[in-house]
Amino acid sequence: MPSTPSISVIGSTLTPLALVKHLENKILIDGKLIAPKSKQTFSVHNPATMEVIGQAAEAHEEDVDAAVESAHRAQKKWRHMDAAKRGHLVSQCADLLEEHADELARLMTLETGKALRTESQVEAKIFANTFRFYGGLGLEIKGETIPFSDSMLALTIREPLGVIGAIIAWNVPLLLMSLKVAPALVAGNTVVIKSAEEAPFAVLRAAEIMNTILPPGVLNMISGDGPTTGAVLVRHPKVAKLTFTGSVETGKEIYKNSGDKLVPVTLELGGKSPMIVCEDVDLEQVVSGALASMRFTRQGQSCTAASRIFVHEKIFDPFLVQFKEKLNALKMGDPMDAETDIGAIISPGQHEKILKYIEIGKAEPGSEAHECSELPQDPKLSKGLFVRPVLFTGLPNSHQVCQEEIFGPVTALIPWTDFDEVLDQANDSDYGLAATLWTNNLQLALKGVHQLEAGFVQVNQNVVVQPGLSYGGIKSSGIGKEASLEAMLEHFTHKKTIIFNMK
Ligand code: ADP
Repeated sequence: MPSTPSISVIGSTLTPLALVKHLENKILIDGKLIAPKSKQTFSVHNPATMEVIGQAAEAHEEDVDAAVESAHRAQKKWRHMDAAKRGHLVSQCADLLEEHADELARLMTLETGKALRTESQVEAKIFANTFRFYGGLGLEIKGETIPFSDSMLALTIREPLGVIGAIIAWNVPLLLMSLKVAPALVAGNTVVIKSAEEAPFAVLRAAEIMNTILPPGVLNMISGDGPTTGAVLVRHPKVAKLTFTGSVETGKEIYKNSGDKLVPVTLELGGKSPMIVCEDVDLEQVVSGALASMRFTRQGQSCTAASRIFVHEKIFDPFLVQFKEKLNALKMGDPMDAETDIGAIISPGQHEKILKYIEIGKAEPGSEAHECSELPQDPKLSKGLFVRPVLFTGLPNSHQVCQEEIFGPVTALIPWTDFDEVLDQANDSDYGLAATLWTNNLQLALKGVHQLEAGFVQVNQNVVVQPGLSYGGIKSSGIGKEASLEAMLEHFTHKKTIIFNMK
């Protein structure tokens, strides 16, 4: 197999396009960047211009098999390495990834259209931090002793599961990679990760960087679409666990297919997250919070986006005025430009879907679409997938726009007067990922955090996933947790019970 030596470009400063050239038509197996046996590729676009930036490798069955076999071979040694040493290697990866953070951020911006300053640079730092967090947890992979009998020693130890199949989405590709790869590796598993079709290069580059530190085969990366590559990885008999972030439909399919093999799954799926604003808040602070909560600088492409904002009737009108003002002040434009706040939508399909939902919302009698910010005027962005952020008023919580996940810069503002009723409305959703409550009234805050049906509830803030804090949803938002020690122990190890009988 022809291979590209990985080490040569580490430490050098390459432009995003030069990196794409280096990574084109490559998958990473056994520590090497190689061309897939399938000889198939697919085009990757820059969403801000719709120019093709390069060709990514499409891994077919024999490539998926080669990646899994490589991870399976590497398992034998990796699982028996001292846990602290595995953690140390993952910490070294964190250092190197941090050194390459700007390069990774630029590459991610090129392929996703996310603004470099407001999004990609922030994500690249959290990415490295997640590896650093898990790198320090090697010695926390502990079991228990059970007081069974004085003449016996009964205990549990935690063992790795084996080869982990990880499948990720395009919206925060680096972050998703770290949430899956870092705990899996520290716990002694080896990994085959499949990137999203829209964003295969930054994660491949990150995997290449990590492979200068990790033993060959411990971390393998493949690319390709769902049916050709992802489904083959899911069904592979040597994959001992699946961890997935993506749509509810695909999550359900993966759940069924893993059920056929009887392997465990972690699923991080969609959201339609409510934000409840009480009348006692500082308006300026809460409007900034709403702007951040809706992830407008990521074009709303977030599972935790506050896509239903319930505002107390008494402050509804000034809230809307200030929200529009702040949103209008955000600059949409070239994602690489340091002045840009809002970038482009990931793909033509997603762009069309968002515009369709905006039309549906506008068609509802009594609704009003407050379109904010301005589309970029730069001719080189004329084919780019930009959408003006929309604040809807006049839509009830039961409306399609308030119930279905749009994954775009669209949110609905809904007035309320009765706290119990607004909690019922917030919970009236198929999803249960995140929720936020904005108040300084301790009684309302306590009632809200106990009654909101979501896996992640925040009061007076809506921060993105942070290493250390368990993250994951209930209802159609998924199964299992990520980002924490508990997530590593529960989802990447099993407990073996051991009894010594010394009678
Ligand atoms: P999105 O709408 O965010 O693209 P998807 O669920 O379609 O969400 O895709 C998320 C990830 O799941 C991508 O990496 C995609 O290739 C992969 N995928 C899609 N369909 C399947 C499938 N049937 N089996 C395994 N992986 C799949």
